[in-house]
Amino acid sequence: MSEKRSAELLHDPRLNKSTAFTEAERERLGLIGLLPDGVETMELQLLRAHRQLDAKTTDLERYIFLSQLLDHDETLFYALVMSDPARFLPLVYTPTVGEACLRFGHLLRRPRGMYVSIARRGRVRDVLRNWPEKDVRFIVVTDGERFLGLGDLGANGMGIPIGKLALYTACGGVPPEVAMPVMLDCGTNNQENLRDPLYLGLRQPRPAREALDAFVEEFVCAVSEVFPGCCIQFEDWAGVDAVRLLARYRDTTCCFNDDIQGTAAVALAGLLGAVRVTESTLSQQRILFLGAGAAATGIASLLCQAMVSEGTSEADARARIWMFDKSGLLHSQRQDLEDFQRPYAQEHVACTDFVTAIESISPTAIIGVSTVGKAFNRRVIEAMARKNERPIIFPYSNPTSHSECTAEEAYAWSDGRAVFASGSPFGPVRVAGKTFVPGQGNNVYIFPAVGMAVYATKAKRVTDEMFIAAARGVAECVTHADLDVGLLYPPQSEILETSLHAATRVAEVVRARGLGGVPLPENLGAFIRSSAYRPHYSAT
Ligand code: NAD
Repeated sequence: MSEKRSAELLHDPRLNKSTAFTEAERERLGLIGLLPDGVETMELQLLRAHRQLDAKTTDLERYIFLSQLLDHDETLFYALVMSDPARFLPLVYTPTVGEACLRFGHLLRRPRGMYVSIARRGRVRDVLRNWPEKDVRFIVVTDGERFLGLGDLGANGMGIPIGKLALYTACGGVPPEVAMPVMLDCGTNNQENLRDPLYLGLRQPRPAREALDAFVEEFVCAVSEVFPGCCIQFEDWAGVDAVRLLARYRDTTCCFNDDIQGTAAVALAGLLGAVRVTESTLSQQRILFLGAGAAATGIASLLCQAMVSEGTSEADARARIWMFDKSGLLHSQRQDLEDFQRPYAQEHVACTDFVTAIESISPTAIIGVSTVGKAFNRRVIEAMARKNERPIIFPYSNPTSHSECTAEEAYAWSDGRAVFASGSPFGPVRVAGKTFVPGQGNNVYIFPAVGMAVYATKAKRVTDEMFIAAARGVAECVTHADLDVGLLYPPQSEILETSLHAATRVAEVVRARGLGGVPLPENLGAFIRSSAYRPHYSAT
């Protein structure tokens, strides 16, 4: 091995073992003298990384440290994150990634991922061929326009595909070498970015819809040509674009949208956990949404499909779902509804008071996706507690300030009877002499599992049925002990195990529907586990 090759090894994050290269490897690879003499185990390297992290004073500094570790020694990065997922998820992804993306151009050390700008129209294939890996199986692609409630971040949104793919690996076992983060840089309408000399993206306004669609079309076609069999996950696109692009590609391309399908599945998983507490079934619920927007209708659609899969007719499933938006209850006489809301307009007199709607409809569950903080006030929770022995209360709006109620409010106003999960995290609360541990409906329970199943089975399509299977798999991982303390989702500390179980459920659907791109064995659980990435140094 040439001298240059040896030094290259230390700078290749996928091959670098740093101080863990053995004496024999150092001799053979010409690394003697390029490393200090001490040969370390990964445990020692992890100890150092933990100490270095502990010395940082802000989460943003910890994010930068972790990004640099990923650039330097990928195996150690994943070993660190997977050693304590509950601690590291908020650092690698939300909420810290939000702060990092706002300042992405300022924080840049080493560019990561693929930037395909609309200025390269007509040569997207060639751009993709510049990627060093040839077997790309998973792409997370954003145009950075609707970023976690922070709006149009333009090219600064690249932090999201990077962070999300790190979770596919750390939480789902998808090997990092098959993953490619992509920023489709279509410009930005964010004036602050455009004024910032350190902004890294294309400095032009966003294109009209036709031009955007033509560019996405070129990208999708180029991916299928350069990386056949690759799954594309659309992430953080503006709502209308997200819905349109998913509708356009879902039946012809292996793709999905986590904001739409993952969100719906995580809510379904929470409800499946809740009905174990109330000792009923999904199809026996009457569900009233506060909010009738993208999240509400996306969740409702998956809930209906899940009820139908339990044997309920589609009409009966629809009849169990009610929605209440800023103009009141969705009923069939309303003239102001969008087409996507119409299926949820029920026969009912006009009603503009949410508590009156609860009294009239007697829902077993309320789901808040209204963005209106505190909308589940005391009257609302007390009405639900009057109607139900165990009222299901899911305030799913983010961030915490928009949550329709806090965990403490839900438990306190229902005398500890609420079955609770939320979109934003809440710590344990003590009410009526009992400690409750609220679960957070975080999409990380779903997308790594779906991604792992798609990767392992080489699935040709991603269907809603696969998301329902993932939700069921997650709900199956919730133990009686979890339910006893009010936890409707498995603990985040066990996310890899949960994902591998849920991925097995998804793979069962892939096999049953003949969607696999490889022959699938009888024991899908063992197959998924044997395909999963583990952060161990291999012999060099
Ligand atoms: P959206 O803007 O499409 O819809 C908001 C809906 O709320 C609209 O139907 C609107 O009429 C209704 N609304 C507004 N004010 C209201 C009021 N005072 N009373 C009743 N209804 C009112 O937004 P969206 O994309 O559907 O997202 C809604 C919320 O759901 C956001 O806060 C988002 O963070 C949250 N969400 C959470 C998750 C998750 O936890 N996994 C996933 C997706 C969305």
